[in-house]
Amino acid sequence: MTATLIDGKEFAARVRGQVAAHVTRLKADHGITPGLAVVLVGEDPASQVYVRSKGKQTVEVGMKSVEHKLEADTSEADLLAVIAQLNADPEIHGILVQLPLPGHLDEDLVINSIDPAKDVDGFHISNVGLLGTGQKSMVPCTPLGCLMMLRDYHGSLSGMNAVVIGRSNIVGKPMAQLLLGDSCTVTIAHSRTKDLAQVVRGADIVVAAVGRPEMVPGDWIKPGATVIDVGINRLDAPEKGEGKTRLVGDVDFDSCAAVAGAITPVPGGVGPMTIACLLANTLTACCRASGLDEPEGLTA
Ligand code: NAD
Repeated sequence: MTATLIDGKEFAARVRGQVAAHVTRLKADHGITPGLAVVLVGEDPASQVYVRSKGKQTVEVGMKSVEHKLEADTSEADLLAVIAQLNADPEIHGILVQLPLPGHLDEDLVINSIDPAKDVDGFHISNVGLLGTGQKSMVPCTPLGCLMMLRDYHGSLSGMNAVVIGRSNIVGKPMAQLLLGDSCTVTIAHSRTKDLAQVVRGADIVVAAVGRPEMVPGDWIKPGATVIDVGINRLDAPEKGEGKTRLVGDVDFDSCAAVAGAITPVPGGVGPMTIACLLANTLTACCRASGLDEPEGLTA
């Protein structure tokens, strides 16, 4: 491997440390404790793990953590009532509705019922519009984490060619907006892109957010490019024992690391940054709501 490893686990710990220090000052100087509410509908096992992890890390940085666990058959009206109550609660600065929601609930309607100032996932249509027009917004956590790692590694991203593979609302599109905001020349590639290999070969920065295990091989990567692997794919790993699995990203790590200048691993790259950025967003929302300066280096 010749590439520098961008250690997301270490970086996320640093971000959490910055958030915790800021929270300590908020409490001491202003008597304010940032509060994050997570709403989980149903019993999807992966979502339960995420929610537990979010709650634990929220408390660890000194914030107030509130969890609302609702039955899978909760009606839309009841869910909207919980969100309305959280919107009105002055001790809650961030609200996150864990996705995916059960099929009978309209995700867009639910997300757009969150007060945009408390929308720490950055999925509310107002925040999407603000980001798209370069205005102050709440920024989706995973792309924010990718941006922080890129800025930390490169300093300025101005003028770099960036290719984002994937055009989802939660990763690909906001990632492209953020890179554009940092003056990259941005291409968004997707499932219908022609000659993806050639598109990726022109990139100084590649962000892969597809959900296809190891689909980007090293010979697509321009020598020295920075590769950010957002994908989380679980594969069977019989070599580790019966029923065992392993996580891989969307890029073929070994062949890409042999060509790239820098690369994030999976696990231990983008993944840990997502919750760290959720905490950073909650702190930002709290500072904005309280008319205080935003934490430096923790926003887009
Ligand atoms: P998605 O399924 O919503 O979007 C995938 C995108 O990939 C689509 O826009 C599609 O056009 C594109 N695509 C599909 N096949 C392609 C192909 N052959 N060539 C080029 N593009 C192709 O997925 P998502 O929610 O954006 O997530 C993407 C991946 O990132 C998943 O593995 C997901 O688990 C992971 N993820 C990780 C984090 C994290 O915290 N690290 C957060 C969110 C998502």
